[in-house]
Amino acid sequence: MKKELLENTWSPSATYDFAEDAKHLKRKFNYSWLETYSPWLAYSRHQKGAFCKYCTLFPPNPNSFRGVLGSFIIRPFCKFKDIHEHCKKHMETHFHKMALEAAKSFLGSVPVDLQLNKYSRGIIEENRKIITSIISCITFCGSHDLALRGKHYGEGILEDLYKLRIDAGDLVLKKHIEHGKKNASYRSIAIQNEIIAICGDVIKADIVKKVKEAEAYSVLADETADISGTEQLSIGLRYFDEEANEVQEMFVGFVELKGLDAKSIAYCIDEFLTKEDLNPADKCVGFGFDGCSTMSVKDGGVQAILRKKIYQSTVLSLLVP
Ligand SMILES: [Zn+2]
Repeated sequence: MKKELLENTWSPSATYDFAEDAKHLKRKFNYSWLETYSPWLAYSRHQKGAFCKYCTLFPPNPNSFRGVLGSFIIRPFCKFKDIHEHCKKHMETHFHKMALEAAKSFLGSVPVDLQLNKYSRGIIEENRKIITSIISCITFCGSHDLALRGKHYGEGILEDLYKLRIDAGDLVLKKHIEHGKKNASYRSIAIQNEIIAICGDVIKADIVKKVKEAEAYSVLADETADISGTEQLSIGLRYFDEEANEVQEMFVGFVELKGLDAKSIAYCIDEFLTKEDLNPADKCVGFGFDGCSTMSVKDGGVQAILRKKIYQSTVLSLLVP
């Protein structure tokens, strides 16, 4: 039945008396519109108005269309004076595109859900391109030590980089910035910070993976206070990178310090190494600290505590088969 309706939709002849149907209206239906808005526009002689055959046969969720938009679907469209405007609007709607895909798949006997997925996939692909452009601008700022934002919203290096990409022909980003949904612009400060954090995680994971592959590594740590006065420990790892065939020293992150005494610092380093699953007992072969006494003093310093702990665990792992 659906197939029959889709393939052999009734169509008025060129000489059909549209004026008779539109006696009560200011303007009558024009036969050429069927051609202009082919293949979806159909005319119903019973309802005396225009319909979208796809949306009628593959109706969208009633919540997704309202007002005039519903008029091609649940009631005939009769405001022929404004037909072009409304047809264009209708063709742009999400549900019309879904219905079109559904009809195509139905006729091509491809399962409907698969074809619907194709439309969703298109949206996902486009979103991926948008987010890739945005991430690339953010990582550019990161790798060149540039501040992302300016004094006011919508200015700063990051916004300028977007403009540069658009000038260079990034049409997807252009469309997104000019016409994208305002509640999903991916340009808010919160999203920028989230992307920075995710980039940090990815980079750290990459370094940690290489350190795990290496036979041994050393830890480089230094205590420092951040702008808010919170004491932080910066942690770096030194290892042999087989791929690059050289020794690398990489910063892997800051850890907040609970205290400034040797015990707290040693605990933080140990916790970091254990959390990253770096197997310090077997692979950590050295520590690099600055000359500060808390770090390196011979007996109660961070170095001494860690050495003792790691030495003990080595002994333990030798004892337990
Ligand atoms: Zn439609």
